[in-house]
Amino acid sequence: MQNFDLKKPEKTGFEYNPLEMQSFDQNLLYPLLPFLTNRARATPAVEKRNLDSGKRSSSKTSSKFKHAGINIPFFEQITKKILNDFYKKFCPHCEDQILDKEISTRPDVIRCRVCHYQTSRLSSTPLQQFKLPLWMFGYVFHESFIQHPKVLTSTEITKRLGISYKAALLLKRRFQIFASEQLEIYKRITFKLLEDEFRDFNLPPNENTDITKKMAKRSYICADTAVLYSASARANKGRKRFRHSGATASIYLSDKLGGKQIGTLVHTIAVKRGPVFFHSVPNQKANTLGPIIKEHLPIRTPLFTDQGYRWLWGIYRNHRSVNHNAKSKKGRYRWARNRWSKYGVHSQVAEGNQRLLKTSFGAYCYTTPEYSTLYLNEFAFLKNAKVLGLDILIQDGAEDSVGIGAMLLLPQHIVQKFP
Ligand SMILES: [Zn+2]
Repeated sequence: MQNFDLKKPEKTGFEYNPLEMQSFDQNLLYPLLPFLTNRARATPAVEKRNLDSGKRSSSKTSSKFKHAGINIPFFEQITKKILNDFYKKFCPHCEDQILDKEISTRPDVIRCRVCHYQTSRLSSTPLQQFKLPLWMFGYVFHESFIQHPKVLTSTEITKRLGISYKAALLLKRRFQIFASEQLEIYKRITFKLLEDEFRDFNLPPNENTDITKKMAKRSYICADTAVLYSASARANKGRKRFRHSGATASIYLSDKLGGKQIGTLVHTIAVKRGPVFFHSVPNQKANTLGPIIKEHLPIRTPLFTDQGYRWLWGIYRNHRSVNHNAKSKKGRYRWARNRWSKYGVHSQVAEGNQRLLKTSFGAYCYTTPEYSTLYLNEFAFLKNAKVLGLDILIQDGAEDSVGIGAMLLLPQHIVQKFP
């Protein structure tokens, strides 16, 4: 992933480089700042004033050291940048005039430069009716972005921003809604890129041909399902787990306890060193997974899975699967050596992403199936933002088509460009 990042082409427009923020020296100090400011009480008044002015607390209600070390103007800029770039507003009276004039005392209002038409900055965006200071959204965005794949939990937001748990949770929800919206654009971009790449592509019709060479310089796409949170024996009141819908660990309670879904089953579509898409699904049937795959992958895409996708046969002609239960022909071994990867067919790209997901979601402890889609969207958005960048979202949103800059961003394009 690191190598991939280094080869990214020059960006224009929306620059978001986490390294840049190191130039804000306040942030480098921030674990230490409460300590420094406390000590400042005993030091002469001049030094004290210097330290306090560095703190830059703008909130009137917050206690003196509540947001010590948080560079509030920096995060406020991020929020404004997000609003300006992703949710542009146009003046209804002047043609093609973007509303971009700010009022210094009212950060939630924006005006037209020409006719002074005035409207809410936040309406019709994920920040509609947002009552917290604007910079807090920027903080959550920035922290989630740089901490990925570690997730930012509501408890962490509570403690760092000094707001209630409920407020933190709602703030996180807003970010998740923003992420879900933007993920749609990543989906469109990926679909378009794959369509271009595999327009006239065919894998050898004989499934026992090694395709390693054929796929070497192309996007490798895998799909798989995994259980994220499952119904434990304790949740089932001591009953043994049972297989409700085929997954090894059931996401449903026992029928005698109502059979409610309490766990999450995740379907993963992943491109090697590229974007990933997670979906919370109720079961692994063709009618559930089929539409999802159809929505994300063009019909000629080579797709690699395990044996759970037999129904793809005849629809996706470049679909290949590997038998994870292949038995060894020799009596002394139980399993075949090539049961994970055979003739260059494997589903490790999806499995790897699921491993990452499971590790990271450990921090949440549990999410209900109702909200699982939001959490998965957030995670997928952050991952895709790391591999595809944020710029292409804006290019795509503006022209409603894939920008030329985006064409170079899938790994195989880079491989072809720099062999
Ligand atoms: Zn106007």
